[in-house]
Amino acid sequence: MFAATLQRRCEASGDAPFVLHGDRTVTWRELLEVVSRTATLLHRNGVRHGDRVLLACGNNPNFLYLWFALRWAGATCVPLHNQSTPEHVRRIVADAGITFATGDAEALARLREGEAWAGAGHGFADAEELEKSVVDLPPLPRADAEPGDECSLLYTSGTTGPPKGAVISDNAFVAGGRELAEAIGITAEDRILLALPLFHTNPQVYGVMTAIATGCSLVLVERFEPARFLEQAVHYGATGFTYVGTMLAMLTRALPERIPEHRLRFCTGGGAPIELWNVIEDHLGVDVHELYGMTETGGWVTANRAGERRRGTCGTVRPDMELAVLGPADEPVPAGEPGEICVRPLRPAVLFDGYHGKAELTLRKFRNLWFHTGDQGFVDENGYLHFLGRLDDMIRRGGENIRPADVEAVLAEHPAVEEVAVVGVPDEVMGQEVRAVVVTNGDFDPWALAEFLTGRLPKLAWPRYVSVRDALPKTATQKIQAARLRVLEAGDID
Ligand code: ATP
Ligand code: MG
Repeated sequence: MFAATLQRRCEASGDAPFVLHGDRTVTWRELLEVVSRTATLLHRNGVRHGDRVLLACGNNPNFLYLWFALRWAGATCVPLHNQSTPEHVRRIVADAGITFATGDAEALARLREGEAWAGAGHGFADAEELEKSVVDLPPLPRADAEPGDECSLLYTSGTTGPPKGAVISDNAFVAGGRELAEAIGITAEDRILLALPLFHTNPQVYGVMTAIATGCSLVLVERFEPARFLEQAVHYGATGFTYVGTMLAMLTRALPERIPEHRLRFCTGGGAPIELWNVIEDHLGVDVHELYGMTETGGWVTANRAGERRRGTCGTVRPDMELAVLGPADEPVPAGEPGEICVRPLRPAVLFDGYHGKAELTLRKFRNLWFHTGDQGFVDENGYLHFLGRLDDMIRRGGENIRPADVEAVLAEHPAVEEVAVVGVPDEVMGQEVRAVVVTNGDFDPWALAEFLTGRLPKLAWPRYVSVRDALPKTATQKIQAARLRVLEAGDID
């Protein structure tokens, strides 16, 4: 179904550009030719319908050629993130039951050196090499696929613990792209710059799948470079980009006083605090379409739709899903009250199918058909979702609930604070205490903090402990791993 949708798009959009990378452009017609022939090459290498294939590839057209070719052949794509350790890869290989590996030759060589993958594989130096190696092959007949068939096994970011494999169907991808394009008004004229690693749902759904839905084009850059990002957007005539919070933080810091002329009009992603949102809108002149979503929900659940955006919120729920905020006994809570964000599909195969090999966890997360996200938020009287944080990260100090994000926002304004994460640590008297971990860019004096915090933060939320680190532990998508930080910090609690 995925491959059939792709084929229809390629035929409809023909000579229009599909992807720009470096100084090369691939059209939709060329894409279809390469994909159907690459499927033959994979087939000749033994890849069959239903096989799970590891994809280790950077942000270049080969990622898309291979993902699509795997689907064309009826196989499942298991993309690896580019900073995967051999241990992480070995865990995925065993967990997913991988039969074959493909991607960048360099990435595959690294897997073999680290002894993470000793099985069969086929890598390519670059997109040109892939194109050359398939040009004389006949196209493979497209494998039949139902909308609910497994398209990808996507491992979650690993923010809260070891990554979990989420089974994502063809339909979840296709519907995610189609609904988002509709919600924010993406058209064939658009050109979306993807600087986040392609293994993640963010560029896959907000970028690649919206392109398949509308025929717009993509621009791939190898990695996000804050100082070059705007220049790249101008060079390629990008009209949109996708983000995560840390990326916007770095981008806003790197923006020049005088903004050069550009065509950027929108960005989509999750995790933009209101201050960054304001800079992107008011200084850069780009509409922020903040979303709420996760790997398990096929990318996104709520969005700030075109013409209906509200700063600081995650927008409203998409038409094929239902949203609820539930209390500790799974009871609905009134508008404006915080609780667990829960999602229910209104059509088949729009959410993930479950965690691979983790039936018990899947059952625990789905209760009465509601998928429990583990995130806290509230829905206001207009139906807009406000994201508060992860339930597990909330600090319960005495009788009070303290949101790490509130404390982090205040500390981030401190001139000597480069980055900060706030976590709860066990405390005999209070249950939990607030601990701030900072990366400093200069003279940071924790003893002078009281003066800074006075009038900025209620005293009950002041950090009792402050520590300085060279860096904060992060996932490949640049999310701070609070759970890991709690473990690291547990070692040196005074
Ligand atoms: P893991 O599940 O392995 O711990 P992860 O949850 O970070 O990793 P993802 O699926 O990439 O993996 O991220 C989804 C999470 O991102 C959500 O559960 C939520 O906590 C966070 N998130 C989603 N939307 C937003 C948003 N708009 N603002 C802030 N955080 C968000
Ligand atoms: Mg998660």
